[in-house]
Amino acid sequence: MDYQCPDCGNSIERAFSKNIATTAGIVGILFTSAFGGFHCKTCGKVPFSKFPIEVRKRMIKGTLLYIIAALLVLSFAIWVVINI
Ligand SMILES: [Zn+2]
Repeated sequence: MDYQCPDCGNSIERAFSKNIATTAGIVGILFTSAFGGFHCKTCGKVPFSKFPIEVRKRMIKGTLLYIIAALLVLSFAIWVVINI
C-alpha cells in the first residue's frame, strides 16, 4: 500500500508495535497495522485528518482488509483449537 505524506511527499508506512507483534504473532501484526497509525520517514507520525479525503477513503479500505485478515486468521486458530 502506497501513501504519500501530505507535508513532504515522502512515502508513508503503517506503524506497528514490534512487542505486540511478537507476542500475538500474525494476528498482532495485522491488528496493530490496522490501528497503529501512519508514519512518514521524515516527519514521523502523520495524523489521519491531514490526509486528503480520497487518500483517507483508501486508508479505511486498507484498514478494513487488515481487520478482516486478522479475524480470518483468528477464527482459523480457534477452529484448530476446537478440533484438536
Ligand atoms: Zn513527511
